[in-house]
Amino acid sequence: MPAKSHLSVERSRIILIGLFGVAVGWVIGSVWMGLAISYFAYACWLVYQADQVDTWLDKGAKRSTAPDTDGVIGNIEKLIFRSKQSDKDRKARMKRILGWYNRSASALPDATVVTNDNFEIIWANEAAQTNLGIRGNRDAGQRIDNLVRDIGFQKYVRDNNPEEIEIEFQSPANKNITLAVRRVAYAENMYLFSARDVSQRVQLRETRAAFIANASHELKTPLTVVNGYLELLGEDASLPLEARQKIAIAEEHAIRMKDIVTDLLTLSRLENQQLEQSKLTPIAVGDMLESICEDIKDNKLGSNHTFETNIDNRIYLSGSESEIKSICTNLCINAVQHTPAGTVVQIGWQATPDGGARLLVSDNGPGIPPQHITHVTERFYRVDSEQSRESGGTGLGLSIVKHVVHRHQGELRISSMPGRGTTFEILFPVEKILTEQEAHAASL
Ligand code: ADP
Repeated sequence: MPAKSHLSVERSRIILIGLFGVAVGWVIGSVWMGLAISYFAYACWLVYQADQVDTWLDKGAKRSTAPDTDGVIGNIEKLIFRSKQSDKDRKARMKRILGWYNRSASALPDATVVTNDNFEIIWANEAAQTNLGIRGNRDAGQRIDNLVRDIGFQKYVRDNNPEEIEIEFQSPANKNITLAVRRVAYAENMYLFSARDVSQRVQLRETRAAFIANASHELKTPLTVVNGYLELLGEDASLPLEARQKIAIAEEHAIRMKDIVTDLLTLSRLENQQLEQSKLTPIAVGDMLESICEDIKDNKLGSNHTFETNIDNRIYLSGSESEIKSICTNLCINAVQHTPAGTVVQIGWQATPDGGARLLVSDNGPGIPPQHITHVTERFYRVDSEQSRESGGTGLGLSIVKHVVHRHQGELRISSMPGRGTTFEILFPVEKILTEQEAHAASL
């Protein structure tokens, strides 16, 4: 190893200096004096070399100005030079990689903005300018939600735990573009916002929704006519019993089809039309729930179920009466439709500690297996398709509930334990709640 050979050179040098010191001592008549003089001279020489290396280091340790040293000091000088050189190479490599990274991030087609935990912009790529109107060097230090002023986006940024993974809104820089923006937390207290152009996806979705709405609308009138004739035929006593039984089956299916068409039309309206301010009225949700319970109990469907209510009739909700009624009806009908006779159904409408209100429909029926829970609000999703179809459901009830809850700024929570029952909870924020006095004043 080179370090070892330098040491052995230095060791031999110390021995030779020692021998030289003894010889000098013999000449001057004192061996100790001779040794002291020669080792002192050696120490001075070492200090001189170390000083030269130190000055060289101070001046930037360039190869061209390297002092001519040897032995241990020479070796130390070489080691310092090598480590400096590799440091320089590493820095150059890092600079190159950073350059590549910056160039590739800048060339990304998706707008990318990096912010600190206060959402102040640190860096933005080129696409951020075309899609979000943000320029990295001009807007650095500004809050992203002060530059992108879409209300939904601002809420998404400021929410610690946003409900949605990503949010869609119209590009502030180009009205023809719809963006899907996603926020990702990374490193320590850093956020990365990436915005994709999803205009094509939105257009496809709108075309699909328009097709469903048109098809459902076109089907509604012929189905009403078919239903009417089947009803008339079913009542015709002159027809043989067997024929009337078949007509009754046909009528049952035609009614189901009409229900599906009606629900599809409702869904497409909920998806594509904003909830108009003029449709908002104070709703006595407690009274509404009680009346729905009575209707279900009087119906064959719920006659063998027990209803327990815990309702505060003094709490009103500001919303669309028909939409809130569809939530209450769907949840209450589900609680009897998907549970056996003897099931206890609990219905609640109570204030929450934060001033909001909670609507609750809970049953002790067979429950929903955990793997199905996140899917039951999807269109036509059924845990047991056969059984749900037999019970007359359209498979669209909970999709409608989800949309209506969202339109009323509520939060839908579903919890269930197989064999223990299912609980549907809807939490409405304080802004949607009215007291009795406020509700009366608003209805005047
Ligand atoms: P459906 O018309 O079939 O009731 P929904 O969208 O209302 O459609 O419900 C979706 C599915 O969720 C139902 O088919 C059923 O499997 C399940 N479900 C809904 N409510 C309950 C409940 N209270 N208990 C058990 N399963 C339920």
